[in-house]
Amino acid sequence: MTNLNEKMVALGTQRSVIRELFEFGKLRAAEIGAENVFDFSIGNPSVPAPAKVNETAARILSEMDPVLLHGYTSAQGDAGVRAMLADSVNRRFHTSYCADHFYMTVGAAAALCCCFHGLCNAGDEVVIFAPYFPEYTVFARGAGANPVIVPADTEAFQIDFTAFAQALSPATKAVVVNSPNNPSGVVYAEETIQKLAAVLNAKAEEYGHPIYLISDEPYREIVFSGTTVPFLPDYYKNTLVCYSWSKSLSLPGERMGYVLVPPAVEDSAQVYAAIAGAGRSLGYVNAPSLFQRVCAACADETSDISVYETNKNLLLKSLREMGYQVVEPGGTFYMFPRSLEEDDAAFAERAKAHNLLIVPGCGFGCPGHVRISYCVPTEQIKRSLPAFEALAKEYR
Ligand code: PLP
Repeated sequence: MTNLNEKMVALGTQRSVIRELFEFGKLRAAEIGAENVFDFSIGNPSVPAPAKVNETAARILSEMDPVLLHGYTSAQGDAGVRAMLADSVNRRFHTSYCADHFYMTVGAAAALCCCFHGLCNAGDEVVIFAPYFPEYTVFARGAGANPVIVPADTEAFQIDFTAFAQALSPATKAVVVNSPNNPSGVVYAEETIQKLAAVLNAKAEEYGHPIYLISDEPYREIVFSGTTVPFLPDYYKNTLVCYSWSKSLSLPGERMGYVLVPPAVEDSAQVYAAIAGAGRSLGYVNAPSLFQRVCAACADETSDISVYETNKNLLLKSLREMGYQVVEPGGTFYMFPRSLEEDDAAFAERAKAHNLLIVPGCGFGCPGHVRISYCVPTEQIKRSLPAFEALAKEYR
């Protein structure tokens, strides 16, 4: 028998709860009709990319020299593309970045992997706040780091600072934040960010080495009225930004994102080099050429994301009226109500009997909750409400 890397075999064969639900939904739809299955399992944007995306792609395909277009770009991404991104970010956040602060990646996933691999030595710790995107632990372990989970503040899904203080140690290399958050939808308040920055500054001083804040921001643009998302490099100098257009431009399949290493980061040129080195060692070479150019040209656009707010309002109001406890999301297309019994997996299983496909919170490091992905047509939300009500009734 071949002696394989057993950790990788396990990762490659592990069942994904979300994918299983998604497959179950398809089977159920064949049995009872798609309109009777309420699939809230997966976070695939439900609105198309803006017309400008396809128009730009078509224009580039017809106008650009194909040898150049389909050839390798610089490993860190085309210099013109990165300059356009710097301009866009500078306009929006009043910064003065330049092309060389941006490293183009295959989505936020690769941006995160480049950060973890670039920053961490074996045994370094990466602190992650629950509830969290489950791949963080996979990416961190893949880089030889140890993920350290901070239990959730389930009252508001901000940060439990007592638990955070306990998670930090001299081995802490980086802290990951994701606001707007998958799965809670919550946006960190400015006060939370200020407190976080103060703790990190104090601890970095105490330990005698920098602690990097990795801000994972694929939902930065998907924010509801009345909410603002603080721009983290304004609050903490050792911040690295991981961004992608997967959600804001509805382009998850095109795999395009970047790491931004602001010049204020300590030893920023070295940090940038480490990220580029990580990309190289992982064999990423360069992010896809066509969509680097498309995303740069469309960097100031978003899809028509208004449906997510419509859905959030309808679902939040209806679920609360039925007795569900839900922290109001400030953005994304997720909400994370408490399950009506302690065992979130059992609750999600009972929901399935009503053809409601929702994801148990334990996979996000936060049991006792379920994730609802409402990137679906509003009609589906309306049709699903009797099922949520019937489910709630079972617990009254
Ligand atoms: N980070 C979070 C919080 C996400 O929800 C996702 C995808 O759902 C990613 C990162 C990965 O994004 P991408 O598809 O751009 O790699």
